[in-house]
Amino acid sequence: MKYIFGPVPSRRLGMSLGIDMVPYKTCTFDCIYCECGRTTVHEAIRRRHFDSLSLVLDEVLKLTRSGRRIDYITLSGSGEPTLNLQCGEFIREVKSKTDKRVAVLTNGSLLTREDVFKELLAADLVVPSLDSARQSSFERVNRPVKGMSAQEIAEATAEFVKAFEGEVWLEVLLVKGFNDSQDDLAALSDAVMRIAPDQIQVGTVERPGAEDWARPVSSKKLEDFVAGLGPRAAVIGQPNRDFGVSTGRDIAADALALVSRRPCTIEDIESAVSEKRPVIMGKLRELEQAGKITRYSHNGKTFYAARRE
Ligand code: SF4
Repeated sequence: MKYIFGPVPSRRLGMSLGIDMVPYKTCTFDCIYCECGRTTVHEAIRRRHFDSLSLVLDEVLKLTRSGRRIDYITLSGSGEPTLNLQCGEFIREVKSKTDKRVAVLTNGSLLTREDVFKELLAADLVVPSLDSARQSSFERVNRPVKGMSAQEIAEATAEFVKAFEGEVWLEVLLVKGFNDSQDDLAALSDAVMRIAPDQIQVGTVERPGAEDWARPVSSKKLEDFVAGLGPRAAVIGQPNRDFGVSTGRDIAADALALVSRRPCTIEDIESAVSEKRPVIMGKLRELEQAGKITRYSHNGKTFYAARRE
């Protein structure tokens, strides 16, 4: 089904059944590092993005009863999931009909809205991001829709952490020359302390993204920043390799689904589909010959990505 992805191994969530809440690529931001590419629908208007919520729910229920390991049902997708007006109802239905934990990966921009704030309270885990607490660097890195305020988003996120009974893992991504000045890091550090999430996961640009000039900060800068945030903060590493469980589906379909979400290395694909490398390489060649995927080099690594029409 076009809205459902996985279950696939996630470095933080174990086996995650992903739900694509919005069409490619609908977002309130247009981050310069976005692994999904540039935002094509740049808006803050919430819409009903599922043709039929009950059909999506039926499929999710079927998968949760299939015996396959699912640690989280994760609202995500190639864009901002809370732009889907059916978000709250979807979470409530999943919580009432399954025993699975629900995670929401969000850029946090709509937590300033009362409806989104309340809807996400029903989840088990919320993973918002905050890349800058200064308006100028927020606009340069995240390229939000007009009128969004870094300060208001940080305040709403802090309020959310206070009200929420589940866990909040805050994600921070640093881009060289864009949000990593001393002033940026000091303001960001203050904001993160006020938000006081359960975990703080700090990373930098690792994959090809929307703009090829978005560059990573040094490991030292990441580590120094993390050290100043205390024991709840960590640098996010490479994907967890312990979850190499087959998705039980066609390998070519799995590989295509993976690289449709973000550019992947052969190691990423290997860990997701749990198949021998030569078999995967053969499938990737077929997909490439069929014009469905493309292969290119970035920072010395080979990445596979889906071709977009
Ligand atoms: S990284 Fe996330 S918030 Fe930023 S543009 Fe991509 S989908 Fe939107």
